[in-house]
Amino acid sequence: MSGGTVKCLVWDLDDTLWRGTLLEDPAVAVPEAIRAVVTELDRRGILQSVASRNEHDHAWARLEELGLAEFLILPQIGWGAKSHAVRAIADRLGFDHRTIAFIDDRPAERFEVSRALPGVRCYPAEAASTLTTLPEFSPAIVTEDSRHRRARYQGEVLRRTERENFAGGQDDFLRTLELDLRVRRATEPDLARVEELTLRTSQMNATGVPYSEAALRDLLDDDAHEVLVATLTDRFGPHGAVAVVLLAKHSSVWNLKLLTTSCRVIPYGIGSVLLRWLTGEAAKARVHLVADFVPTDRNRMMAVAYRFAGFTEQPCECVADLPVAAAEVRRMHLVALAQEPPTVLRVSAPELAVEGTGVTVWTASALL
Ligand SMILES: [Zn+2]
Repeated sequence: MSGGTVKCLVWDLDDTLWRGTLLEDPAVAVPEAIRAVVTELDRRGILQSVASRNEHDHAWARLEELGLAEFLILPQIGWGAKSHAVRAIADRLGFDHRTIAFIDDRPAERFEVSRALPGVRCYPAEAASTLTTLPEFSPAIVTEDSRHRRARYQGEVLRRTERENFAGGQDDFLRTLELDLRVRRATEPDLARVEELTLRTSQMNATGVPYSEAALRDLLDDDAHEVLVATLTDRFGPHGAVAVVLLAKHSSVWNLKLLTTSCRVIPYGIGSVLLRWLTGEAAKARVHLVADFVPTDRNRMMAVAYRFAGFTEQPCECVADLPVAAAEVRRMHLVALAQEPPTVLRVSAPELAVEGTGVTVWTASALL
Protein backbone atom coordinates (compact mmCIF):
# COMPACT_ATOMS: atom_id res chain seq x y z
CA MET A 1 0.00 0.00 0.00
CA SER A 2 1.27 3.44 -0.86
CA GLY A 3 2.26 5.96 1.79
CA GLY A 4 1.22 9.55 1.49
CA THR A 5 -0.70 11.72 3.87
CA VAL A 6 -4.11 10.71 5.15
CA LYS A 7 -6.73 13.29 4.14
CA CYS A 8 -9.63 11.91 6.17
CA LEU A 9 -9.74 9.70 9.27
CA VAL A 10 -12.96 7.80 9.96
CA TRP A 11 -13.59 7.01 13.61
CA ASP A 12 -15.57 4.18 15.14
CA LEU A 13 -17.27 5.44 18.34
CA ASP A 14 -17.81 2.64 20.91
CA ASP A 15 -14.52 1.66 22.56
CA THR A 16 -12.56 3.67 19.99
CA LEU A 17 -13.32 7.41 20.10
CA TRP A 18 -14.94 7.00 23.49
CA ARG A 19 -14.60 4.42 26.26
CA GLY A 20 -17.55 2.05 26.55
CA THR A 21 -20.68 1.28 24.55
CA LEU A 22 -23.26 4.04 24.27
CA LEU A 23 -26.26 1.68 24.35
CA GLU A 24 -25.10 0.30 27.70
CA ASP A 25 -23.64 3.45 29.21
CA PRO A 26 -25.10 6.81 28.11
CA ALA A 27 -22.27 8.62 29.92
CA VAL A 28 -19.44 7.31 27.74
CA ALA A 29 -16.38 9.55 28.12
CA VAL A 30 -13.58 10.55 25.80
CA PRO A 31 -10.05 10.27 27.20
CA GLU A 32 -8.13 13.55 27.11
CA ALA A 33 -5.41 11.94 24.96
CA ILE A 34 -7.97 11.08 22.28
CA ARG A 35 -9.55 14.52 22.41
CA ALA A 36 -6.07 16.00 21.91
CA VAL A 37 -5.58 13.80 18.83
CA VAL A 38 -8.88 14.99 17.34
CA THR A 39 -8.04 18.66 17.79
CA GLU A 40 -4.46 18.24 16.57
CA LEU A 41 -5.47 16.35 13.40
CA ASP A 42 -8.02 19.09 12.77
CA ARG A 43 -5.30 21.74 13.12
CA ARG A 44 -3.19 19.83 10.60
CA GLY A 45 -6.01 19.98 8.07
CA ILE A 46 -6.86 16.26 8.25
CA LEU A 47 -10.62 15.80 8.01
CA GLN A 48 -12.41 13.46 10.40
CA SER A 49 -15.63 11.53 10.18
CA VAL A 50 -17.54 8.75 11.93
CA ALA A 51 -18.64 5.24 10.98
CA SER A 52 -20.53 3.78 13.93
CA ARG A 53 -23.22 1.22 14.66
CA ASN A 54 -25.53 3.23 16.84
CA GLU A 55 -28.80 5.07 16.75
CA HIS A 56 -27.90 8.26 14.89
CA ASP A 57 -29.65 10.94 16.94
CA HIS A 58 -28.57 9.42 20.23
CA ALA A 59 -24.89 9.13 19.23
CA TRP A 60 -24.79 12.58 17.60
CA ALA A 61 -26.34 14.18 20.69
CA ARG A 62 -23.61 12.61 22.83
CA LEU A 63 -20.91 13.88 20.43
CA GLU A 64 -22.41 17.36 20.74
CA GLU A 65 -22.37 17.16 24.54
CA LEU A 66 -18.75 16.08 24.39
CA GLY A 67 -17.89 19.07 22.19
CA LEU A 68 -16.65 16.81 19.39
CA ALA A 69 -19.51 16.98 16.87
CA GLU A 70 -18.11 20.10 15.23
CA PHE A 71 -14.90 18.25 14.30
CA LEU A 72 -16.71 15.44 12.46
CA ILE A 73 -18.02 15.86 8.93
CA LEU A 74 -20.41 13.61 7.00
CA PRO A 75 -21.07 11.28 9.98
CA GLN A 76 -22.31 7.78 9.03
CA ILE A 77 -24.12 6.45 12.09
CA GLY A 78 -26.52 3.57 11.53
CA TRP A 79 -26.68 -0.18 11.09
CA GLY A 80 -25.10 -0.77 7.69
CA ALA A 81 -21.68 -2.23 6.87
CA LYS A 82 -18.72 -0.08 7.88
CA SER A 83 -17.28 -0.40 4.37
CA HIS A 84 -20.45 1.21 3.00
CA ALA A 85 -20.06 4.06 5.47
CA VAL A 86 -16.38 4.60 4.60
CA ARG A 87 -17.10 4.41 0.88
CA ALA A 88 -19.92 6.96 1.23
CA ILE A 89 -17.58 9.37 3.01
CA ALA A 90 -14.86 8.97 0.34
CA ASP A 91 -17.43 9.46 -2.43
CA ARG A 92 -18.90 12.60 -0.90
CA LEU A 93 -15.43 14.09 -0.41
CA GLY A 94 -14.20 12.95 -3.81
CA PHE A 95 -11.15 11.37 -2.16
CA ASP A 96 -9.13 8.37 -3.35
CA HIS A 97 -9.51 5.45 -0.91
CA ARG A 98 -5.73 5.51 -0.35
CA THR A 99 -6.12 8.88 1.38
CA ILE A 100 -8.70 7.53 3.84
CA ALA A 101 -7.91 5.94 7.23
CA PHE A 102 -10.30 3.96 9.43
CA ILE A 103 -9.91 3.25 13.14
CA ASP A 104 -11.98 0.65 15.00
CA ASP A 105 -11.47 -1.54 18.06
CA ARG A 106 -13.02 -4.61 16.42
CA PRO A 107 -10.80 -6.71 14.12
CA ALA A 108 -13.85 -8.01 12.26
CA GLU A 109 -14.85 -4.46 11.27
CA ARG A 110 -11.32 -3.62 10.13
CA PHE A 111 -11.22 -6.84 8.13
CA GLU A 112 -14.55 -6.07 6.48
CA VAL A 113 -13.37 -2.57 5.49
CA SER A 114 -9.96 -3.80 4.28
CA ARG A 115 -11.50 -6.49 2.14
CA ALA A 116 -14.11 -4.23 0.53
CA LEU A 117 -11.83 -1.17 0.24
CA PRO A 118 -8.22 -2.37 -0.06
CA GLY A 119 -6.82 1.15 -0.34
CA VAL A 120 -8.13 2.29 3.05
CA ARG A 121 -5.59 2.20 5.87
CA CYS A 122 -7.01 0.55 9.01
CA TYR A 123 -5.84 1.08 12.58
CA PRO A 124 -6.76 -0.65 15.85
CA ALA A 125 -8.22 1.48 18.66
CA GLU A 126 -5.01 1.10 20.70
CA ALA A 127 -3.27 3.26 18.07
CA ALA A 128 -5.65 6.19 18.60
CA SER A 129 -3.59 8.18 21.07
CA THR A 130 -0.41 7.90 18.97
CA LEU A 131 -1.80 8.71 15.51
CA THR A 132 -0.32 12.21 15.55
CA THR A 133 3.19 10.72 15.79
CA LEU A 134 2.78 8.72 12.56
CA PRO A 135 4.23 10.13 9.33
CA GLU A 136 1.00 9.57 7.39
CA PHE A 137 -0.80 11.90 9.81
CA SER A 138 1.96 14.53 9.62
CA PRO A 139 1.56 16.68 6.49
CA ALA A 140 4.76 18.38 5.35
CA ILE A 141 3.08 21.77 5.25
CA VAL A 142 0.53 23.01 7.76
CA THR A 143 -0.75 26.42 6.77
CA GLU A 144 -3.36 28.87 7.94
CA ASP A 145 -5.43 27.35 5.18
CA SER A 146 -5.12 23.81 6.61
CA ARG A 147 -6.79 24.93 9.79
CA HIS A 148 -9.85 26.05 7.84
CA ARG A 149 -10.10 22.91 5.74
CA ARG A 150 -12.92 21.39 7.79
CA ALA A 151 -15.02 24.56 7.63
CA ARG A 152 -14.47 24.56 3.88
CA TYR A 153 -15.70 21.01 3.46
CA GLN A 154 -18.68 21.65 5.72
CA GLY A 155 -19.51 24.62 3.48
CA GLU A 156 -19.03 22.40 0.43
CA VAL A 157 -21.55 19.87 1.72
CA LEU A 158 -24.15 22.64 2.16
CA ARG A 159 -23.33 24.08 -1.27
CA ARG A 160 -23.78 20.71 -2.96
CA THR A 161 -27.13 20.14 -1.29
CA GLU A 162 -28.19 23.62 -2.40
CA ARG A 163 -27.07 22.91 -6.00
CA GLU A 164 -28.97 19.61 -6.08
CA ASN A 165 -32.14 21.43 -5.05
CA PHE A 166 -31.65 24.41 -7.40
CA ALA A 167 -33.79 24.32 -10.52
CA GLY A 168 -32.05 27.05 -12.58
CA GLY A 169 -28.85 27.13 -14.64
CA GLN A 170 -25.26 27.16 -13.38
CA ASP A 171 -24.76 30.95 -13.65
CA ASP A 172 -28.00 31.63 -11.78
CA PHE A 173 -26.90 29.20 -9.11
CA LEU A 174 -23.47 30.86 -8.84
CA ARG A 175 -25.13 34.24 -8.37
CA THR A 176 -27.05 32.88 -5.36
CA LEU A 177 -23.72 31.98 -3.70
CA GLU A 178 -22.60 35.63 -3.41
CA LEU A 179 -19.08 34.69 -4.50
CA ASP A 180 -16.44 37.19 -3.45
CA LEU A 181 -12.95 36.86 -4.97
CA ARG A 182 -10.27 38.96 -3.34
CA VAL A 183 -6.91 39.38 -5.02
CA ARG A 184 -4.11 40.90 -3.01
CA ARG A 185 -0.34 41.19 -3.01
CA ALA A 186 1.11 38.25 -1.09
CA THR A 187 2.88 38.95 2.19
CA GLU A 188 5.26 36.89 4.29
CA PRO A 189 2.53 34.85 6.12
CA ASP A 190 1.05 33.79 2.74
CA LEU A 191 4.25 32.21 1.46
CA ALA A 192 3.72 28.66 2.75
CA ARG A 193 0.27 28.48 1.15
CA VAL A 194 1.51 30.12 -2.06
CA GLU A 195 4.32 27.57 -2.27
CA GLU A 196 1.82 24.78 -1.63
CA LEU A 197 -0.34 25.99 -4.52
CA THR A 198 2.65 26.15 -6.87
CA LEU A 199 3.83 22.66 -5.87
CA ARG A 200 0.69 20.97 -7.05
CA THR A 201 1.14 19.93 -10.64
CA SER A 202 -2.57 20.13 -11.06
CA GLN A 203 -4.98 20.45 -13.93
CA MET A 204 -4.98 24.17 -13.29
CA ASN A 205 -1.25 24.87 -13.10
CA ALA A 206 -0.08 26.64 -16.26
CA THR A 207 3.58 25.73 -16.02
CA GLY A 208 3.97 22.95 -13.49
CA VAL A 209 6.99 24.89 -12.21
CA PRO A 210 7.21 24.86 -8.41
CA TYR A 211 8.48 27.96 -6.62
CA SER A 212 10.16 27.57 -3.25
CA GLU A 213 9.22 29.75 -0.31
CA ALA A 214 12.70 31.35 -0.52
CA ALA A 215 12.36 32.14 -4.23
CA LEU A 216 8.92 33.64 -3.62
CA ARG A 217 10.23 35.72 -0.72
CA ASP A 218 12.85 37.29 -3.02
CA LEU A 219 10.11 38.18 -5.48
CA LEU A 220 8.02 39.91 -2.79
CA ASP A 221 10.75 42.49 -2.45
CA ASP A 222 11.21 42.91 -6.20
CA ASP A 223 9.33 45.92 -7.62
CA ALA A 224 9.30 44.38 -11.08
CA HIS A 225 7.36 41.35 -9.87
CA GLU A 226 3.85 40.89 -8.55
CA VAL A 227 3.10 37.85 -6.38
CA LEU A 228 -0.66 37.82 -6.03
CA VAL A 229 -2.83 35.52 -4.00
CA ALA A 230 -6.60 35.17 -4.43
CA THR A 231 -9.03 34.06 -1.74
CA LEU A 232 -12.63 33.11 -2.37
CA THR A 233 -15.58 33.37 0.03
CA ASP A 234 -19.29 32.84 -0.41
CA ARG A 235 -22.34 32.77 1.81
CA PHE A 236 -21.50 29.25 2.99
CA GLY A 237 -18.08 30.31 4.20
CA PRO A 238 -14.47 30.52 3.06
CA HIS A 239 -12.86 28.53 0.25
CA GLY A 240 -9.50 29.84 1.46
CA ALA A 241 -6.57 30.82 -0.77
CA VAL A 242 -7.47 29.41 -4.18
CA ALA A 243 -5.11 30.95 -6.74
CA VAL A 244 -1.65 32.36 -7.22
CA VAL A 245 -0.49 34.73 -9.96
CA LEU A 246 3.16 35.49 -10.61
CA LEU A 247 3.72 38.43 -12.93
CA ALA A 248 6.93 40.06 -14.17
CA LYS A 249 6.28 43.65 -15.31
CA HIS A 250 8.42 44.96 -18.17
CA SER A 251 7.91 48.35 -19.83
CA SER A 252 5.95 47.16 -22.86
CA VAL A 253 4.86 43.71 -21.79
CA TRP A 254 3.76 41.86 -18.67
CA ASN A 255 4.96 38.28 -18.42
CA LEU A 256 2.53 35.96 -16.65
CA LYS A 257 5.03 33.43 -15.34
CA LEU A 258 2.58 31.38 -13.34
CA LEU A 259 -1.13 31.06 -12.88
CA THR A 260 -2.40 28.23 -10.76
CA THR A 261 -5.76 27.71 -9.17
CA SER A 262 -6.99 25.09 -6.77
CA CYS A 263 -8.92 22.28 -8.47
CA ARG A 264 -11.76 22.67 -6.01
CA VAL A 265 -12.78 26.04 -7.49
CA ILE A 266 -12.98 24.83 -11.09
CA PRO A 267 -16.81 25.10 -11.09
CA TYR A 268 -16.49 28.84 -10.43
CA GLY A 269 -14.20 29.56 -13.40
CA ILE A 270 -11.68 31.38 -11.22
CA GLY A 271 -8.78 30.86 -13.67
CA SER A 272 -10.71 32.53 -16.49
CA VAL A 273 -11.87 35.38 -14.27
CA LEU A 274 -8.28 36.07 -13.18
CA LEU A 275 -7.07 36.00 -16.81
CA ARG A 276 -9.75 38.51 -17.79
CA TRP A 277 -8.94 40.75 -14.83
CA LEU A 278 -5.20 40.66 -15.71
CA THR A 279 -6.06 41.43 -19.32
CA GLY A 280 -8.06 44.46 -18.24
CA GLU A 281 -5.21 45.70 -16.05
CA ALA A 282 -2.72 45.21 -18.88
CA ALA A 283 -5.02 47.18 -21.17
CA LYS A 284 -5.03 50.05 -18.69
CA ALA A 285 -1.23 49.92 -18.53
CA ARG A 286 -1.07 49.74 -22.36
CA VAL A 287 1.14 46.68 -22.31
CA HIS A 288 0.91 43.32 -24.04
CA LEU A 289 0.55 40.12 -22.06
CA VAL A 290 2.75 37.06 -22.54
CA ALA A 291 1.82 33.94 -20.59
CA ASP A 292 4.32 31.16 -20.05
CA PHE A 293 2.76 27.81 -20.59
CA VAL A 294 4.26 24.36 -20.18
CA PRO A 295 1.92 21.62 -21.35
CA THR A 296 1.70 18.68 -18.97
CA ASP A 297 -0.49 15.62 -19.21
CA ARG A 298 -2.87 17.22 -16.71
CA ASN A 299 -3.19 20.93 -17.49
CA ARG A 300 -5.02 20.90 -20.82
CA MET A 301 -7.93 22.70 -19.15
CA MET A 302 -5.63 25.63 -18.42
CA ALA A 303 -4.56 25.80 -22.08
CA VAL A 304 -8.23 26.02 -23.00
CA ALA A 305 -8.70 28.88 -20.52
CA TYR A 306 -5.82 30.83 -22.12
CA ARG A 307 -7.15 30.32 -25.63
CA PHE A 308 -10.64 31.25 -24.50
CA ALA A 309 -9.19 34.48 -23.05
CA GLY A 310 -7.71 35.25 -26.49
CA PHE A 311 -4.09 34.18 -26.05
CA THR A 312 -2.41 32.82 -29.19
CA GLU A 313 1.03 31.57 -30.17
CA GLN A 314 1.41 34.17 -32.91
CA PRO A 315 4.77 35.94 -32.69
CA CYS A 316 5.02 39.55 -31.47
CA GLU A 317 8.12 41.71 -31.15
CA CYS A 318 7.35 42.45 -27.47
CA VAL A 319 8.65 38.98 -26.62
CA ALA A 320 12.16 40.25 -27.42
CA ASP A 321 11.92 42.40 -24.25
CA LEU A 322 11.63 39.28 -22.09
CA PRO A 323 14.45 37.11 -20.80
CA VAL A 324 14.77 33.93 -22.82
CA ALA A 325 12.54 31.20 -21.43
CA ALA A 326 13.44 27.58 -20.80
CA ALA A 327 13.11 25.33 -23.85
CA GLU A 328 9.90 23.65 -22.70
CA VAL A 329 8.05 26.94 -22.18
CA ARG A 330 5.50 27.96 -24.78
CA ARG A 331 4.76 31.65 -24.82
CA MET A 332 1.17 32.64 -25.43
CA HIS A 333 0.54 36.22 -26.41
CA LEU A 334 -2.31 38.68 -26.13
CA VAL A 335 -2.82 42.30 -27.15
CA ALA A 336 -4.75 43.35 -24.07
CA LEU A 337 -8.13 45.05 -24.46
CA ALA A 338 -10.52 46.42 -21.82
CA GLN A 339 -12.72 43.71 -20.29
CA GLU A 340 -16.35 43.58 -19.25
CA PRO A 341 -16.70 42.80 -15.53
CA PRO A 342 -17.89 39.34 -14.45
CA THR A 343 -21.60 38.78 -13.94
CA VAL A 344 -21.54 35.93 -11.42
CA LEU A 345 -19.02 37.07 -8.84
CA ARG A 346 -17.50 40.11 -7.23
CA VAL A 347 -13.76 40.74 -7.62
CA SER A 348 -11.70 43.15 -5.60
CA ALA A 349 -8.10 43.55 -6.61
CA PRO A 350 -5.11 45.89 -6.52
CA GLU A 351 -4.63 48.32 -9.38
CA LEU A 352 -1.63 46.89 -11.20
CA ALA A 353 -1.51 49.58 -13.84
CA VAL A 354 -0.76 52.41 -11.42
CA GLU A 355 1.69 52.95 -8.60
CA GLY A 356 0.36 52.65 -5.08
CA THR A 357 -1.89 50.44 -3.03
CA GLY A 358 -5.32 51.25 -4.48
CA VAL A 359 -7.92 48.49 -4.69
CA THR A 360 -10.71 48.37 -7.22
CA VAL A 361 -13.94 46.43 -7.14
CA TRP A 362 -14.60 44.83 -10.50
CA THR A 363 -18.04 43.37 -11.06
CA ALA A 364 -21.24 43.80 -13.01
CA SER A 365 -23.34 46.56 -11.45
CA ALA A 366 -26.14 44.07 -10.69
CA LEU A 367 -23.92 42.41 -8.12
CA LEU A 368 -22.88 45.53 -6.24
ZN1 LIG B 1 3.21 41.77 -27.98
